[in-house]
Amino acid sequence: MEIVPGVHWIKGITSQCYIVVDKELTLIDTGMPHKTKKILRYITDDLQRTPSDLKTILLTHCDIDHVGNACELRNITGAKIAAHQQDAEIIAGKKIRTTPKGGMSTLFKLLGSFLRMKPFHVDLLINDSDNLSGFTVLHMPGHTMGSIALYDSKRKVLFIGDTLRCKHGIILGPSKNVTMDIKQAYRSIEKLKNLDFTVMLSGHGEPLRKNASALVTEFIEKIKKVEATR
Ligand SMILES: [Zn+2]
Repeated sequence: MEIVPGVHWIKGITSQCYIVVDKELTLIDTGMPHKTKKILRYITDDLQRTPSDLKTILLTHCDIDHVGNACELRNITGAKIAAHQQDAEIIAGKKIRTTPKGGMSTLFKLLGSFLRMKPFHVDLLINDSDNLSGFTVLHMPGHTMGSIALYDSKRKVLFIGDTLRCKHGIILGPSKNVTMDIKQAYRSIEKLKNLDFTVMLSGHGEPLRKNASALVTEFIEKIKKVEATR
């Protein structure tokens, strides 16, 4: 489904994944394992492009529901996988993804072995302010320490990963139980204050299609007020 010209939402994959169409194709997040065929079908049938047109797979963070098809897609298409260094180490199995109470990290591990998800290496390590495939990288530590947002200034679209969610037009912070450092996540969100974007695309929930930067600024102000009363 095309959200704005050149930006597509591949529906029916948990979590949300998006494909940006320029001369080359860029995939942002890849969903839970075993959805590779669905993503490839979107490229060939909906976009009428060939799988080898996919040149870059950008991962907003290390969670299994975002990286699940990345390795298989790379094997088929030859695309390069990019992620922030801190999460690349978790994706490669060198570090463990922690959670506030510890319990969920066991769940992530179990889910990984249940879905037969193997660790893999990332081709490109990205950092704050990097420019890659037409996007500016914003490092947003909190949900995971290597979480990133990707800003498409040409289209005024922000891909926010799991740092913010949008449900029924309402912005929510990251899910607390699976967020490594919630305070840090809220500090990262403040980075978005002066960014100009119309559309925000999150890893969970629906696209926020209008006035996204104003709504995010409102959300930031709301959090500050709540913090001030604590
Ligand atoms: Zn996540």
